[in-house]
Amino acid sequence: MEFESNLAFAQKMDQEDPLVEFRSKFHIPQHQGKNTIYFCGNSLGLQPKSAKEHILRDLKNWEELGVEGHFTGDWQWVDYHKRFRKPLSNLVGSLESEVVAMNNLTVNLHLAMVSFYRPTKEKFKIICEGHAFPSDQYAFESQVKFHGYNPNEAIIELVPKEGEDTLRTEDIIATIEQHKNETALILIGGLQYYTGQFFDLKTIADYAQQNNITFGVDLAHGVGNMPLKLHDWGIDFAVWCSYKYLNSGPGAVSGMFVHEKHHQNVDLPRFAGWWGHEEKERFMMKKGFIPISSADGWQLSNCPVFNMSAHYASLEIFEEAGIDRLREKSLKLSGYLLHLLEELDFIKVITPKTEQDRGCQVSMYVAENGKKIFDYLHSKGVIADWREPNVIRIAPVPLYNTFEEVYQFFNILKEAKNIIND
Ligand SMILES: *Cc1c(COP(=O)(O)O)cnc(C)c1O
Repeated sequence: MEFESNLAFAQKMDQEDPLVEFRSKFHIPQHQGKNTIYFCGNSLGLQPKSAKEHILRDLKNWEELGVEGHFTGDWQWVDYHKRFRKPLSNLVGSLESEVVAMNNLTVNLHLAMVSFYRPTKEKFKIICEGHAFPSDQYAFESQVKFHGYNPNEAIIELVPKEGEDTLRTEDIIATIEQHKNETALILIGGLQYYTGQFFDLKTIADYAQQNNITFGVDLAHGVGNMPLKLHDWGIDFAVWCSYKYLNSGPGAVSGMFVHEKHHQNVDLPRFAGWWGHEEKERFMMKKGFIPISSADGWQLSNCPVFNMSAHYASLEIFEEAGIDRLREKSLKLSGYLLHLLEELDFIKVITPKTEQDRGCQVSMYVAENGKKIFDYLHSKGVIADWREPNVIRIAPVPLYNTFEEVYQFFNILKEAKNIIND
């Protein structure tokens, strides 16, 4: 695609955008009476306008029905989690029985590791990406210690080649090869939160399977961003949150995928709760846990309903837009941004430029005055994300961002440099 660095071109792209109407379904935060350029959907997605009516409906049911809301009406609470099966399975590429909306991300990561990180004296290592999100690092470290192993020996970090910013698939494979006989689990972010790199999950999954190593992914930055095929790729489990690209609100309910091949395995250890127990018997209050033979069997507690109302509102929008159409637009939006950024010599993009290796997010190093430049952007109504020591992350999101915003952002960034030189 031929991109042009001018306003008319950006506006034409917006006019021709088949998803342009979706922006009006979201509240855009304001700055000095004008819309912000909100490029932070990788951190906290915007509020769907329909979230309010969904939350109000559930509040009203509680107001009018009290405890009977659990089992009354079209929106009864007892099976709220079931409403997410279809939209979530479309987003992650799975069977409906392989996904469940529950808890928060790090909680789900721990629950998944209880089942899928089962170290032995011979096989106890976890291969993860270096510079993994801190919460994930803490989870790995504490799980390793919980099983009585030493994190310094057990945790193997994938690091880029000297002088490079992102990982090469062949190097990931080489590291797995080197440690394969001692590795119990490979666990990486599907899309790296810092660099914006999307990993070749299928190749890694194939390799893990051939070597009998469990493979899990943290899709905090992948879900709602990339089309995924978790079932076909044979990934063992995945976890994600829903407040980033999934626009479900701060701390919103998260999700988990467990591949069908594990559903019948009653020997898998797990931390159990009554919501994961065989449904027909749930209210018989009997002893003896019988897991539901689907991802639902990993649930612990009854549903956080008000937290799920907004999640529902958001996933309804994803169902309407479709992840493949969103991806198509996303590649154009970030492609346009990357094209414009080539003109600027004071930043260095670290996100891979090749389409299959990236999603919405573009991360850039700013060698000098990075924080000042970031603050200037902020003063002009650009909501971006700063990561110490010198990285600005920008995520144009296809549901609510426009080509014109990308063009405006580029101009403000250009200005920022001049102001700092003055
Ligand atoms: C955002 C994010 C988290 C946050 O964890 P919570 O449990 O939702 O607070 C964890 N891991 C990754 C990779 C993330 O991107």
